[in-house]
Amino acid sequence: MKPGKHASNAGGLAARISLLVTAGLLLVACGQDNGRSSGAGVSEEDAARAMSRIDVDGMTRRTVALADDAMQGRAPMTDGETRTLAYLEQEFADTGLEPAGDQGFLQPVPLVEITASAATTMALGGESLRYGDDFVVWTKRVVDEISIKASDLVFAGYGIIAPEYGRNDYAGVDWAGKTAVVLVNDPGFATGDAEVFNGRAMTYYGRWTYKYEEAARQGADGVLIIHETAPAAYGWDVVRNSNVGPQLDLVTENDGADRAAIEGWIQRDVAERLFQRAGLDLDAMKQAALDAEFLPVSLEQTASVDVQNTIRKQASYNVIGMLTGSERPDEYVIYTAHWDHLGVDPALEGDQIYNGAADNASGVAALLEIAEAYAALEPPPRRSVMFAAVTAEESGLLGSLYFARNPPVLTRNLVAVLNMDIMLHNGSEAQTTLLGLDQSALAELAREAASRQGREVRPHPSPESGYFYRSDHFSLAKFGVPGLSFLNAGPADSVYVREHYHKPSDEYRDDWDLSGAVQDAQLYFDLGYRLADSDAFPAWRETSEFRAARVADGR
Ligand SMILES: [Zn+2]
Repeated sequence: MKPGKHASNAGGLAARISLLVTAGLLLVACGQDNGRSSGAGVSEEDAARAMSRIDVDGMTRRTVALADDAMQGRAPMTDGETRTLAYLEQEFADTGLEPAGDQGFLQPVPLVEITASAATTMALGGESLRYGDDFVVWTKRVVDEISIKASDLVFAGYGIIAPEYGRNDYAGVDWAGKTAVVLVNDPGFATGDAEVFNGRAMTYYGRWTYKYEEAARQGADGVLIIHETAPAAYGWDVVRNSNVGPQLDLVTENDGADRAAIEGWIQRDVAERLFQRAGLDLDAMKQAALDAEFLPVSLEQTASVDVQNTIRKQASYNVIGMLTGSERPDEYVIYTAHWDHLGVDPALEGDQIYNGAADNASGVAALLEIAEAYAALEPPPRRSVMFAAVTAEESGLLGSLYFARNPPVLTRNLVAVLNMDIMLHNGSEAQTTLLGLDQSALAELAREAASRQGREVRPHPSPESGYFYRSDHFSLAKFGVPGLSFLNAGPADSVYVREHYHKPSDEYRDDWDLSGAVQDAQLYFDLGYRLADSDAFPAWRETSEFRAARVADGR
């Protein structure tokens, strides 16, 4: 193999650099092309040798260990967490990583767990609904009980306030004492019109988290999202499984007092009846809501909700390790994967353990394999490399959000975040799915790394599902760190998404073949060590909503 990262490019180094500069990257020749005059830098031979440490045996052994029934579905603040942390700390130590948490490898993440009573009630327009079957509601306020009585129900379209699209779905209403009923996703998805929002690709305005945040800013009592499978990108069972039972949040100074009293979802047929009683047709109102001039419409009924909570405050933990770079140790390439999953549900018939083998034992296994490859690199890359197995992703990216708010190092010195959340498990694939290809100059590096494998990277087949906002790289993106994420669950109608995603059947099976996960981990290693061996700070695209935060951070 030829030495030097650009030497194989027939177009020549100068042409290549000018291409990259055009693409918004400031890649400079850092000396690797002339060997290692500074004594640092990674040769292709050394990298290949280290990369071969990432193999199917290790990937499988680690996935099986993390997805084992003994790990109890890896729910934060349970015995399953204790066992998972013990395993990860041992693996990090055995790999030779340096501790980068506050307590050795551990970074405590203060969480509050709020469990709504199974006796939670809601009536809309006098119709009493069945908790879990017809609706789910909760409160993010840290209180023993929340009760709203006769709160006026108002349809607020998509629940979006977006000045850049000339839209305010909350306009003209004093929201105190009212509950907003809103649609999921955004008008771009509904119309499929590329000129409307971001076309079929979901914007952050389409995410449920945004809907709750905006209703709170408007001072509404509550907000109920009408569930529909296509625009939500998942079925009602996912909504129910994710929202009934203990709910986690980061501890905040005001104990969630700035949130709406009630947040929740209702089934589509519940909404149809609600609208009918007001003499309205849901489909017609959905159509009306597409108009940027849409104004809120009273549903002429009220909501009454009662939720009693059990509250527990406790820390969960991120597990963070690193390897120090040889020349620019204060700059970091960071790899992330969430270790948590949904735990155990004693109410289920049959299998009660959410093993989360693909989601995300596989991603953590890949993180460990990549760390092992780096540890075998001698000399190390010029920059440092960090590895973070984060908690409470399934509860709203909480571990990574805490990490981003309380980083062990300055976020401006995080060069890029490479996240893994659901790896390939059906053998080698010539194409692999990465989130963030439309967001930053990391896309070009990923394409190059894939092409060195004779493979291709592709964007997610369902951009309308908003997956970029659904895993841990997003927490760091909010703070300006450019990122990519593997997400190999397939399209919204894939067998995995339909039958196993967030279900106890997401288990390791003997017919799994993790050679595709190995290829992807090697791709990430290849991309990451080259970045760690360079001076480049890959930039966000001009159009990215995350670019401003990076620029404000002086990058
Ligand atoms: Zn996941």
